[in-house]
Parts: sequence; structure tokens; C-alpha cells
Amino acid sequence: MRSASPASSTASSAASAKDPRAAAAGAASERKFFGRRKACRFCTDKVAGISYKDVSMLRNYLTERGKIMPRRLSGTCARHQRELTLAIKRARNIALVAFTEER
Ligand SMILES: [Zn+2]
Repeated sequence: MRSASPASSTASSAASAKDPRAAAAGAASERKFFGRRKACRFCTDKVAGISYKDVSMLRNYLTERGKIMPRRLSGTCARHQRELTLAIKRARNIALVAFTEER
């Protein structure tokens, strides 16, 4: 008669508790999307005044449909954005720039 010996092989489960230092390391990570600050193109070029006659330049600040590009997209500073909108509106008034583009 053979007696089955209860070979209870207890697998030594390595109690790997999470290292508390590993979690703290990722807390002070750099900001992902706010780091890159676009500089105002007029400030960097030191443009004295924005002319309404400079159509090719103004067109850079219009969307596909002829709308004025928002500051958050173009990166223009507040002062120059104000000048730019005025210039675009003047240019529109004498039909240098379209009010709206047909789709
Ligand atoms: Zn500026």
C-alpha cells in the first residue's frame, strides 16, 4: 500500500510590496502641454506698426474661412493682436481681405 505523501510544496511567494519611493518620484514631473510658449511674431521681429496694406502678412492670421486667428493659436501678444485685428478689419473694409471665404 502506498500512502500518498502530502508534498505540500508551498511556493515561496515573494512578498513584493510596492516601493513607496517609486510612487513619489513621478509626482514632480514637468508639465506636458504648457511648457512651450509661442512668442509673438511681431515682438520678435520688432515690427513698429501692423499695416493693413500688408495683405500677405495679414492672411497668415486668418483661418481658412477668413476669420481672424485667435491669440491662443497664433501666439500673438495682446498688444499686437489688437493692432492686428484693427488692420484686418481695415483691410476687409477696402476689400483687401475677405470677410468670409466660401466653402
Ligand atoms: Zn507682440
